[in-house]
Amino acid sequence: MKYIRWFSVHPDVAKHTKFTSMLHRFDHINVVAKFRMGCHWLKCEERVVDRIKIPRSQRLCTLCDFHKCEDEMHIFECPFYNDIRLKFQQLFKHICCDNYQNNNMTIWSWNFSDDNFRQFMNGYQDPSFWLDLAFFLIACRKKRKAGLRALAAQNSLSSSSLDEA
Ligand SMILES: [Zn+2]
Repeated sequence: MKYIRWFSVHPDVAKHTKFTSMLHRFDHINVVAKFRMGCHWLKCEERVVDRIKIPRSQRLCTLCDFHKCEDEMHIFECPFYNDIRLKFQQLFKHICCDNYQNNNMTIWSWNFSDDNFRQFMNGYQDPSFWLDLAFFLIACRKKRKAGLRALAAQNSLSSSSLDEA
């Protein structure tokens, strides 16, 4: 299982900061814990649609043109969330920055390796990391919901205009 590898303790992180000791509000703990346990709102967890079993590899993100599985890693690379990543730049300061220690230009084309992502998900002993991650996930969840609602409205609009034609 890929996400077990992503969320396991990284050997480079000797004393990683535990998110449970850094977060105090229920909704913050909830969103981070669920994300790490793989029970969240992303499509990769949507096992059955209209009673048809969908393999994980086919649970694709419909909010970008990458045709990639909407898994835990994808929300960190999906262009749909560019504005949120820009807002939460400090979350990525440990993994990518340019020569000027400025990461707002590079995160859009950032490609996580499994090891990068695992290291990232260990929090870098940074006390502010987990709270930032909680806010980041909550913001993504909200934007995704609105985006999917807009898509659904668009689809029903185009199908009704097809009906008329
Ligand atoms: Zn996407």
